[in-house]
Amino acid sequence: MGNFINFAYLAAIILFIFGLKGLTHPRTAVRGNLLGALGMLIAIIVTLIDQKLLAFPLGYILIAMGLVVGAVAGAILAIKIEMTAMPQMVALFNGFGGAASVLVAWAELCNEGNSNTAIVAAMLAGLIGTVTFWGSLVAFAKLQEYKSFKKPYDYPFQKIGNAVLAAVVVLLAVIGILLGGNVAVYILLVMVATVLGITLVNPIGGADMPVVIALLNSYSGLAATATGFVLNNSVLIVAGSLVGASGLILTSIMCKAMNRSLTNVLFGVMGDGGETASADDVYGGKVKSTSAEEVAMLFDTARRVVIVPGYGMAVAQAQHAVRDLTNHLEDRGVEVEFAVHPVAGRMPGHMNVLLAEAEIPYEQLKEPDEVNPAMSQTDVVIVIGANDVVNPEARNPKSAIAGMPIIDCDKAPTCIVIKRSLSPGFAGIPNPLFALENTLMYFGDGKKAILDLVSALKE
Ligand code: NDP
Repeated sequence: MGNFINFAYLAAIILFIFGLKGLTHPRTAVRGNLLGALGMLIAIIVTLIDQKLLAFPLGYILIAMGLVVGAVAGAILAIKIEMTAMPQMVALFNGFGGAASVLVAWAELCNEGNSNTAIVAAMLAGLIGTVTFWGSLVAFAKLQEYKSFKKPYDYPFQKIGNAVLAAVVVLLAVIGILLGGNVAVYILLVMVATVLGITLVNPIGGADMPVVIALLNSYSGLAATATGFVLNNSVLIVAGSLVGASGLILTSIMCKAMNRSLTNVLFGVMGDGGETASADDVYGGKVKSTSAEEVAMLFDTARRVVIVPGYGMAVAQAQHAVRDLTNHLEDRGVEVEFAVHPVAGRMPGHMNVLLAEAEIPYEQLKEPDEVNPAMSQTDVVIVIGANDVVNPEARNPKSAIAGMPIIDCDKAPTCIVIKRSLSPGFAGIPNPLFALENTLMYFGDGKKAILDLVSALKE
């Protein structure tokens, strides 16, 4: 039996690895997803067959109850959730993964006769899991744009306070281990780590959120790995390590995309403290608005167009309309490219997913580095629902988003910005792009604006 279980776990692990490999390219992503899901199915079935479960039949009854509660809650959430709220949902999933690790480790510590490895792992699972859970809840609140969480929150002695809290949880973990997995110490550790999870993520905000989200994702993997050691379950150890490692790679990609160092994001208050000009100063009397008909006329002479999607495209669910516009322009012989910023939207790869859903060929999607050099030779740039990722304020060393690489829409001969108003993006700062000489604001909901534009082009 043991051999069969190990063999099945190995098969699941291989499927996870091939699944991840598949996810590295849009063309193989669906297959990769299926392979990963198959691996997970095998892992679940084999774990259920594993004799280490609670004495039959109580173990299965408890598991069935958990399955029903989880499935009902999951199904309700999945049905009710708006597509635009997916990032928040992913943040919650990360958090629940952390919470599960905390509970499993706690349950194991209540048992007698744990090995030293299990005790060390349980303390680590409690520490990382708690920070992941509370950090993810704060990230959820920030993504949901709850008022009291939206702004990066700075308070006196924040860095020292966090360092002290971190030192205390590590000390508690060591004491817990030395006392042979003492449950009271574990609970105390969880309480202090709760405060740490909140105070670690709360100061981060604005445009730096993608880095935190990727990092929390990685933490949830590390917590799962620790739980794998607690339960002596190889598939959990490997799956957790894969999540932890891929989360770290994503964190490094996000840091690069934001031109931030990880230590800066973690220990400095980012996205705050910069000088923010008032909206009146930035826009006062300088904004020019346009209409579908006027924009359609601009396309009469255009040879090259770059479309810059952002979070607003996701809100408007305008990706299919954008595909229609692209088809129409290409039929007229216009070269169309998409400039996709790595942090556009509210989750890593958000724009890529939406554009893939609308079947826009992957080859047309370009990174900022690829499109920026050709901006001045691009006849028309259409910004649809993007704001922070096209904000030239990032070049101002005193601004809150200083140093963040942007898509240089301000360097194009003509820039059309589609959004509903002049309200700011996630970072909460006005965008001088909207007041530039070469910018025309096409106000309206993203989908409707594009559909009107396509109709105007047809006429
Ligand atoms: P922004 O959040 O900067 O701006 C989005 C814009 O979309 C808003 O200004 C809004 O303006 C407009 N909008 C909203 N709804 C609609 C609609 N229905 N039709 C048309 N426009 C609409 O988006 P960006 O993509 O430029 O930047 C992403 C930001 O989010 C960055 O600051 C990034 O750091 C942050 N972030 C990214 C994460 C990630 O993983 N990618 C995670 C967390 C945060 P208006 O209301 O006037 O229409």
